[in-house]
Amino acid sequence: LGFFGGIGGASKGGILVKGSNYLEALNSVDTVVFDKTGTLTKGRFEVTGIKCAENVGEADLLESAAYAESYSTHPIALSIVKAYGRDIDRGEISQFDEISGHGIKAAAKGRLIVAGNDKLMAREQIPFEQAGEPGTIVYVAVDGAYAGYIVISDQVKDDSKGAIAALRKLGVKKLVMLTGDSKAVGDRIGRELGLDEVHAELLPDGKVAELERLEAAKARGGKLVFVGDGINDAPVLARADVGVAMGGVGSDAAIEAADVVIMNDEPSRLAAAIKIARRTRRIVW
Ligand code: ADP
Ligand code: MG
Repeated sequence: LGFFGGIGGASKGGILVKGSNYLEALNSVDTVVFDKTGTLTKGRFEVTGIKCAENVGEADLLESAAYAESYSTHPIALSIVKAYGRDIDRGEISQFDEISGHGIKAAAKGRLIVAGNDKLMAREQIPFEQAGEPGTIVYVAVDGAYAGYIVISDQVKDDSKGAIAALRKLGVKKLVMLTGDSKAVGDRIGRELGLDEVHAELLPDGKVAELERLEAAKARGGKLVFVGDGINDAPVLARADVGVAMGGVGSDAAIEAADVVIMNDEPSRLAAAIKIARRTRRIVW
């Protein structure tokens, strides 16, 4: 009865725990690993700058990027389509290929468009101008020629700093962030939130490898919790002792695969769940 009471208490606090074993596991959390985008940050990117290569116009650059991104549901893609602000004629898009952790390759309006990070440009062997601005950079190339870059900014959630502090107070030993975004962006957020470790520029496979390393490093009997939104991190979500998904921004598949769902997307709900787990244990024992 105690466990069910605990699960009921959690659901009232906007946390869905899918089994008493997960509530039990939340009693001995050693390491918490967060995804960045949509988890610690709002995941609502905004275009804050555009830099064109020679002989390329801003409107052209933004249109190419928006056509390339039109079929993607990634938060970066949504921000670019929004900044473009005009209707996209999908009849003009003849090919679309989303490369996880890299970006997009698409054919639109008779042109081949590549839009993504420096790894994608290197992979496509497109020489480009490395951006110096802070922020997430989307480089764009049209028909094999570098066309410029778009600077995109996300914001740390108001709740994230308090969430980290609360987890530390509860005795969590290690707080980590994994991201596919650049090291510059990752390190800035790591400093802002006071995280112990930040691992950036990770592909989905790299996130799994990092999680396995953290699993091996944790204290005996301690549990590892991963908190993510399921976009590019579903394998990690499945592998953690306790996988926590964001219910609002999270994909349906992530919510399905998760052990715990935070309905309102506030990372501090995890600390609340740990407190409920401890209270529940007191009732049960
Ligand atoms: P995170 O780990 O922060 O959730 P992702 O793994 O989703 O990030 O993406 C990692 C990186 O891959 C992004 O920061 C971006 O550089 C690039 N990327 C992924 N999807 C896209 C896209 N649709 N358009 C442009 N770049 C993308
Ligand atoms: Mg993500």
